[in-house]
Amino acid sequence: MHLLLVEDDERLARALTRLLEEDRHIVEHAPDGQTGLELATAMDGLDAVILDIGLPDMSGLEVARRIRKAGIDVSILMLTARDTVNDRVLGLDAGADDYVVKPFAYQEIAARLRALGRRAEPGPRRAEPKLAAGAIVLDEAARRVTVNGRTVDLSPREFSLLEALLRHAGRVLSRDQLLDHAWPFSVAVTPNAVDAYVHYLRTKLGEAGAQIETVRGVGYRLDATPGGARTGDDVTADAAAADG
Ligand code: CA
Repeated sequence: MHLLLVEDDERLARALTRLLEEDRHIVEHAPDGQTGLELATAMDGLDAVILDIGLPDMSGLEVARRIRKAGIDVSILMLTARDTVNDRVLGLDAGADDYVVKPFAYQEIAARLRALGRRAEPGPRRAEPKLAAGAIVLDEAARRVTVNGRTVDLSPREFSLLEALLRHAGRVLSRDQLLDHAWPFSVAVTPNAVDAYVHYLRTKLGEAGAQIETVRGVGYRLDATPGGARTGDDVTADAAAADG
């Protein structure tokens, strides 16, 4: 892979570069956020950015946000020294695809890069049908959500939550189940994060947001037949049948 390493710790950068090059990656190094952004913009065929969160001139979160804002199509692997819930949520929301907590073993980086490489690989993809319920349509391949044909701009977390709810439309998903879907790499995220993101999601979906029902004390359910007569058990059965 063609990689950009944005890391201000010279020793770590040197060691990591050497190991990555031994694995036949091509590595460019930027010691600060500004240089990183310039290289990310200038480099042709860049596959992934390995991005330290603590940089001297700007936060790695800011670098990730600007890379996404600029529409640069590249995977971002965040390096964070702080193993806190907030940093994970912020990092992923800023546009990171995955992250590794320092101190890490090189094998962790190698494994994450392999996973990102597989995701980015062109070629035959398995057919990913659209998921729909009422006015909401989610196109997995295009990573696009529409409500009544209008595109709704969702963050990656919001998209994952909605995807899980649609996939199991009509069924109750617990907060823990939703966490597993939307924060697969974040073992320490609390269920409160789910509540917060469901709130954002409802707001962004507008009227269709009402399709996401709160099941008190348990979690959430996406109404598969909004406006229509509710036929509780049938809805559940349909959703289960469509699930396979
Ligand atoms: Ca640093």
